[in-house]
Amino acid sequence: MAKNIQAICGMNDYLPNETACWQRVEETMKSVLASYGYREIRLPIVEQTPLFQRAIGKVTDVIEKEMYSFIDRNGDSLTLRPEGTAGCVRAGIEHGLLYNQKQRFWYMGPMFRYERPQKGRYRQFHQIGAEVFGQQGPDVDAELILLTARWWRALGVSQHVSLVLNSIGSVAARARYRDALVAFLGRYEDLLDEDCRRRMYTNPMRLLDTKKPDIQMLLNDAPVMIDYLDEDSCTHFSDLCALLDMVGIPYTVNPRLVRGLDYYNRTVFEWVTTRLGSQGTVCGGGRYDNLVEQLGGRATPAVGVAIGLERLVLLVQAVNPHFAALPHVDVYLVVARNNLQPAAMQLAEQLRDALPALRLMTNYNGGSCKKQFGRANKHGARVALVLGESEAAQHKVVVKDLVTGNQETLAQSDVPARLVSILC
Ligand code: ATP
Ligand code: MG
Repeated sequence: MAKNIQAICGMNDYLPNETACWQRVEETMKSVLASYGYREIRLPIVEQTPLFQRAIGKVTDVIEKEMYSFIDRNGDSLTLRPEGTAGCVRAGIEHGLLYNQKQRFWYMGPMFRYERPQKGRYRQFHQIGAEVFGQQGPDVDAELILLTARWWRALGVSQHVSLVLNSIGSVAARARYRDALVAFLGRYEDLLDEDCRRRMYTNPMRLLDTKKPDIQMLLNDAPVMIDYLDEDSCTHFSDLCALLDMVGIPYTVNPRLVRGLDYYNRTVFEWVTTRLGSQGTVCGGGRYDNLVEQLGGRATPAVGVAIGLERLVLLVQAVNPHFAALPHVDVYLVVARNNLQPAAMQLAEQLRDALPALRLMTNYNGGSCKKQFGRANKHGARVALVLGESEAAQHKVVVKDLVTGNQETLAQSDVPARLVSILC
């Protein structure tokens, strides 16, 4: 027998039992985005490799180790997108959406990184991201953070996430800080492994978000970015903090937070949870005022955020199982005899016409009424409709509320109103 072909390691199937929760999470997040005036942008999954190299920075984990790149039949180097911001900026420039305009976009979809798969870390994962273009004030950063906080409330996870914040200043301030950091690291060069020593010269800031515990310990005494901030960035950051205080969003400033991609400047932030083990960062974002120009557009300030949906869904399932356990259907149509199947199909279509949001499942392939009621329960139906010989002949149907046990025989034309009163 031929060997079964299996899915690629770290690339998951999302089975119908899980997709209900995913859909609810996505719908909830989209409606919050709409309530702040964000509009969807849909972008290709594959882009030219240099786009990511230029945007993310060559000496980063993503570019050095994690990209899925390949040469296509044309000889071009293409890459499965590891994140959404670069493509969003590329599209914004290409279609003239950015210069001198204020835009709020969101995107959703799969991202690809060649990482070691584990809980909360996969090779194909999904993000929802939001990007704001054309506004440089800290009020936009604060609004984006407010939006994320509203997501957590709507999903019932706000007690389990906390906000960590930092400013990494301007390019010039980072250059000054970089010198101080390299001077500090130089004193401990013997203790650094080869990879860190190389990065110390190529991109020392990257060492700050290392996951290696001994290097983290060493960095406890390293100079901190916040002491090297330029005056404008300093004001920007303190204004942002004041706005967050005013709207009552608690946060901690972590002067070592730098984030893994090179394009950030000024505000950087993460929402973290202790409920998911070491993959605790649910969401990360920040300002990237130089990226549009770096990718060939006219200078446009920007700020954005990206949420890892796998981690978020794991968190929702862990702390708000009620949210995840949405029944599949509202109504299950029990068909007492096989010869009534066409009449049942007609009734079901009429009900869907009358109540477009109704989730109704019809029984096919017979089975005793008891068995069919069992199926109604399995699918989480609130109401069973029972179509028997005599009901069908009189254009009636039995409506049974499966929670209260109340049962009545109604004219089929009266059923939509009755369902609304039971279900709403
Ligand atoms: P980490 O430090 O956990 O590797 P990151 O800094 O590389 O995260 P970002 O590039 O900022 O992550 O992406 C934003 C969010 O996307 C992360 O906070 C996380 O929730 C999610 N994410 C990133 N990489 C993965 C992955 N391999 N699998 C699942 N989710 C991921
Ligand atoms: Mg990473």
